[in-house]
Amino acid sequence: MSADNCIFCKIASGQLPAKKVYDDELCVAFHDLTPQAPTHILIIPRGHIDSLDTADSGQREVLGHLLLTAAEIARDRGFAEAGYRVVINTNSDGGQTVFHLHVHLLAGREFVFPPG
Ligand code: AMP
Ligand code: ZN
Repeated sequence: MSADNCIFCKIASGQLPAKKVYDDELCVAFHDLTPQAPTHILIIPRGHIDSLDTADSGQREVLGHLLLTAAEIARDRGFAEAGYRVVINTNSDGGQTVFHLHVHLLAGREFVFPPG
């Protein structure tokens, strides 16, 4: 998937609509279209990265920022103490369907482990 035809790049740039909950210079967070939990937010880097598999050491800052942003959103929205699940699906066996790296932030119910 190239950045030219990427739905998450278009959400980041505002070309496609999304229910945004947070954004800054490095990332954008918005509600998942098909929520798998009472709260299901996606956090994406503004710059296109295909997947965790293609991320490199030059992207350490943004990768760390995505996780810290997930934790911040969880605290701000009041579910950090109850708990939440952070997921990065990667490539085919990992269940990745959109090839712009994204962190799923899921909350509002209990999650089983290992996931299916
Ligand atoms: P993954 O399967 O890990 O690649 O996750 C992709 C996620 O993106 C799925 O949970 C989809 O429901 C979600 N998704 C796809 N298109 C959109 C969209 N336009 N706005 C919000 N979420 C989307
Ligand atoms: Zn993209």
